[in-house]
Formats: sequence, structure tokens, C-alpha cells
Amino acid sequence: MRQSKLLFQSTCNFLNKQKTFRYKKTSYFSQHSAFYCLKTAEGPKVLVTRKLFDPALRKIREAFPAVQLDVWPDEQTPIPRNVFLEKVSSGVDGIICMLSDKVDSELLKHSPKNKLKVVSTMSVGFNHIDLETCRQHKIKVGNTPDVLTETTADLVVGLTLATCRRFREAISSVEQGKWGSWSPYWLCGVDVHHSKVGIIGFGRIGQAVARRFLGFDCQILYNSRTEKTVGKKMGASFVDLDTLLRESDIVIPQCLLSEETRNMFNLEAFKKMKPSAIFINASRGEVVDQEALYQALKQGLIRAAGLDVCVPEPLPPSHPLLSLPNCTILPHIGSASTSTREKMSYMCVENLIAGLENQSLPYPV
Ligand code: NAP
Repeated sequence: MRQSKLLFQSTCNFLNKQKTFRYKKTSYFSQHSAFYCLKTAEGPKVLVTRKLFDPALRKIREAFPAVQLDVWPDEQTPIPRNVFLEKVSSGVDGIICMLSDKVDSELLKHSPKNKLKVVSTMSVGFNHIDLETCRQHKIKVGNTPDVLTETTADLVVGLTLATCRRFREAISSVEQGKWGSWSPYWLCGVDVHHSKVGIIGFGRIGQAVARRFLGFDCQILYNSRTEKTVGKKMGASFVDLDTLLRESDIVIPQCLLSEETRNMFNLEAFKKMKPSAIFINASRGEVVDQEALYQALKQGLIRAAGLDVCVPEPLPPSHPLLSLPNCTILPHIGSASTSTREKMSYMCVENLIAGLENQSLPYPV
């Protein structure tokens, strides 16, 4: 009797402590987390696979003061696969990952049964996550759409200009002291203005790219799985892929990576393009057969290419594509503006917190 009275008393004390704690908290994040703390004495275990923006990490600690937060400390190097597997095997409730971290069935099988509740990626692309296995294990998956659309579209336009106007060769000639007298045809490129721009994948970023090129008086062709009203409104023409490849001066895949779009740009596709065509890819490297692209650039099937994404990433400096003067390569910096990356950090933290609280994610995949 005395024992059960003591047990009752200590349970009440514990709950009262949690209650006091709960009412002290003010933010959206912490009110929700107090609910979680009532249910579990121990905080959740969270793995963050790359050093994140500090204020975003703070949100996790505010939400779950007892959180066991494990942050891979390097900002540049991804968490090694074996370490990632090990940490997931030891049991984590939530993961914040990057697009460089494969969350595949092998990794998910390493997680103790019913432990992992949420995978939150700091990217809009989610091709690195096995959605089907997550669904089977009732693991919620969130991403960071919209917030990076305009920043990525800016980069696509920048890369198009750089490729068409041969920035890479121009900059290196200045740096190497090869800048001679002004000459009429030296480093002449291709005009972007008034050109025909073909966009494959007319989603958020594809449309934002189209809006920008309208400002250059370009004609827009697009191909997507479905025709878009917004396309009609902006005067863009919905065409089949072959027509787009045949007619466009500038070809821009901006679709997601799927089994349908993997290697969509193979030798056959490059052969359909104009020999003067410029190819710009800031979607995913796997959308392109890189060997075919190399041949197309080398043999003059197309004029030049600009890539923000490659296979593998990072692309080794010895890669044949880097030996071609008509290929401009950027290190996957589509969404790399400070303010966008900060917003992405907050969004993936919001997804994580909602998932840990067993609520619907604000930005689900
Ligand atoms: P989104 O709004 O989902 O758009 C993706 C588009 O792909 C959709 O419009 C879809 O068409 C289209 N699509 C899918 N399968 C297709 C196919 N077989 N043929 C033609 N179109 C197809 O995504 P988003 O926000 O614009 O992002 C697009 C992609 O950009 C991401 O998935 C990511 O891989 C990449 N990205 C790269 C960077 C970077 O740093 N370089 C940054 C952000 C995003 P429907 O609408 O007709 O279904």
C-alpha cells in the first residue's frame, strides 16, 4: 500500500514538473514538444548528418530540451556510410539528412523496429530516399520545396549566360595572361536574348526559369507530364519531347529524377538537338548519360553545356568533361544563397519536430 502510494506520489511529481516546464515555454516548437516530453522521460534521439545553421539546431533543443542531438560535425564532408549505418543501428527517432546521404532500404533495415519516425531532407529533391520502404515502415518524409525555387532559377539563368557567352574560357584567358588586343571574333558566343528555350519539367523551378527568360524576350517551349494553365498564361508552348529537342536553342531539363527521367539525355537525345544547341542541367546528374554528353560536345552534336549537377558529385578534376572548353561545370550550388539555405534549415527542422511529435509534416514529400 505504502509502496504504491509512493509510486503515485513520484508519478505526480514527475508530471507536475513536466507541466511547469510546459507552461514556461512560449514558442510554437516548444509548446508541441512539451506534449512529447509528457509522454517520454527521455528526449528523442536525433541524427543530423551535416553541421547545420546554429539557430535552426537551437529550435530542436528548444522543442526537446532533453534531446540527444548527434550532429555530424563536418560542414564539407558527408557522414561516411559506415558511420551513418552505425548511428541508425543504435536507434534514432529522427534524421535530418542532405541529398548526398542515401536513405535506402539497407539503411532503413538497420533501424530498430518502429524506432525511426521521420526523415527530413534539406533539399527539394528526394531521389536519395527510398520512399516506398519509408512508407512501409510508417516513417514520415519531408523536404524543403518552394523556398529554393527562385534562387535555383537565378542560378540556371546565370549558368545559361555563362555557357552561352563562354565565361569559363574568358575568365581563364584573363587569369592566364592570354587577354590580347580587342578582336572582332575572339570568344564570341551565342545570344540568349530572343532565343528559343526548351524546358523539360515545368514544375516550380521550371516555371521560375521560364519567367526569367521571358524577360530576355525568349520564346518558351516546355515538356512536362501534364500541360499547365500557367504555361498558357505566360505564352509558353506545351510540346512533345522530340519537338522540344529539335527546335530549342537552349535545352534545360528541370524535372525530378525518376526511373523515367534517368539517362533521358542520351546520345539519341543529343542527336536530335541542333548542332548549335546549348544544354543546361541543374536538375540531377543522373538525368544525363555523361559519356553521351562528352561525345556530343566533343563531336559537335551540340555546341556547349553548363552543368550544376554531375555523377559523381564531387566530379573528380580528372574527369573528361572538365577537359572540354565548351563545358562549364559548377559544384551543385543551385540553392546556395545564405538566406535560402537558412530558410531550408528551418524548414527541415520544422519537418523533424512535427514527425517526432507524430503530427503531419508541414512540408511532406
Ligand atoms: P517540382 O515542382 O516537383 O517539378 C518537377 C517537375 O518534373 C514536374 O513539373 C513534373 O511534371 C516534371 N517531370 C517529372 N517526370 C517527368 C518526365 N518524365 N518528363 C517531363 N517532366 C517530368 O520540383 P522543383 O521544385 O521544380 O525541382 C525540380 C528538381 O530540381 C528537383 O527534383 C531537384 O532534383 C532539382 N533541384 C536542383 C537544385 C540544384 O541545386 N541544382 C536545387 C533545387 C532543385 P508534372 O508537373 O507535369 O508532373
